[in-house]
Amino acid sequence: MSLASSTIASLRQRLLAKEISPRDIVSDVAQAIEKQNASIGAYLSWDLEKAFAEAEKADLSLPLGGIPIGIKDNMNVTGEPCTCGSKMLAENYTAPYDAGAITKLRSAGAVPFGRLNMDEFAMGSTTENSALGLTRNPHDLERVPGGSSGGSAAAVAGDLAVATLGSDTGGSIRQPAALCGCVGIKPTYGRISRFGLVAFASSLDQIGPITKTVEDSALLLNHLCGKDARDSTSLDVDVPDFTAAIGRDIKGLRIGLPKEYFISGIHAGVSAAVKAAIKKLESLGAIPVEISLPHTDVGVSTYYIIAPAEASANLARFDGVRYGHRSTAANDLLEHYMMSREEGFGPEVKRRILLGTYVLSSGYYDAYYLKAQRARTLIRQDFEKAFEQVDVIVSPTSPTPAHKLGALKDNPLAAYLEDIFTIPANLAGLPALSLPCGTADEGGKALPVGLQIIGKPLDEMTVLRVADAFEKA
Ligand code: GLN
Repeated sequence: MSLASSTIASLRQRLLAKEISPRDIVSDVAQAIEKQNASIGAYLSWDLEKAFAEAEKADLSLPLGGIPIGIKDNMNVTGEPCTCGSKMLAENYTAPYDAGAITKLRSAGAVPFGRLNMDEFAMGSTTENSALGLTRNPHDLERVPGGSSGGSAAAVAGDLAVATLGSDTGGSIRQPAALCGCVGIKPTYGRISRFGLVAFASSLDQIGPITKTVEDSALLLNHLCGKDARDSTSLDVDVPDFTAAIGRDIKGLRIGLPKEYFISGIHAGVSAAVKAAIKKLESLGAIPVEISLPHTDVGVSTYYIIAPAEASANLARFDGVRYGHRSTAANDLLEHYMMSREEGFGPEVKRRILLGTYVLSSGYYDAYYLKAQRARTLIRQDFEKAFEQVDVIVSPTSPTPAHKLGALKDNPLAAYLEDIFTIPANLAGLPALSLPCGTADEGGKALPVGLQIIGKPLDEMTVLRVADAFEKA
């Protein structure tokens, strides 16, 4: 069995027992990439020599010593490309520094290895918005892997990586993890430094791991979290040992079931798998409690005002002067800005910039942006009230299993609606995880379904505890 299909926990044991070396792991991962990346398209690039050199120097006494981790192509790793799945950054940009999350990984001994495909600037939920290539779902190559961290999830699911990092603004770790059948967690906003993560919507973006098991997510969180002075929103709070959540029971824990999340319109197979998962949690001693999150219906529209507004400001830096693509056809400065952006950005990014600029413009600011901020507060308060009654909240991660490639391509609104269950946790800044909970039949295929577990602020521990108990059962 290839080492790329192992968990971090088991690789670490074998490394410490001297059965294998860090070079063996990198070599197996590289072989899996050589063999399968042409069909799955998870990676945009990888530098094997660099990874070998770093693996050979890896300090095995460190907790992640010798473990290669695939990186979504929107986090800076010194000397490597950081394309964000965009033509804008595909030429002329090499990262001059390590992102905060990468520094943390390195100080725990891990080796960043490979750059993973994504929707352009993380805008999308199929990875089809990448300007640099298609990623396919390892469970059915005719289907999307989800997005925007589609490369990160497909790599883990297809055993082209042991574990990866993704980023989640409105569901981009959890939804691809759900559609590919792996574990993905978006921690509390501020838990992991955003320094060096190319910003999409700064008040929502959060980095997190995608792994094969809940335990591996806990292990990675231990070393990714923590204050970084270079990100003013990163939280100066204690980082517990998240692996203490592993192997515990969940007797007496109260599991909130939001009535607004169990609605018609959800794929029948998804609904059945999630209901069976709730029964399973009950059989493990958890107590289901019906709750209400009354502002769920405005979540998607609130997000699609706030996220584009922030994106339109964040993406202003791509002006053809400082970063990336530069038009050669322009005759004057204004044309230079306009043509560089026209040529560098793809259609979804342009749509978001237009939306964002519109809702921030004078005359519309109060009607859209300010109103969305008020709605965001109401959504956060819904959760505060619900968490007076329950310890975690459980729901489907995505209303459907993986779609066929191209199915949502000409219907951005339908694509936006797919984010209905993941967006609220970002708007409220809460930790949320997705883990596999069975399959749904679609076109004769059994496709993975994800169970979402949302926690109280900074209570990743309980989220992981419930997830691990379910996974083990
Ligand atoms: N699908 C959502 C969007 O397109 C979320 C993306 C993300 O979390 N980066 O904005």
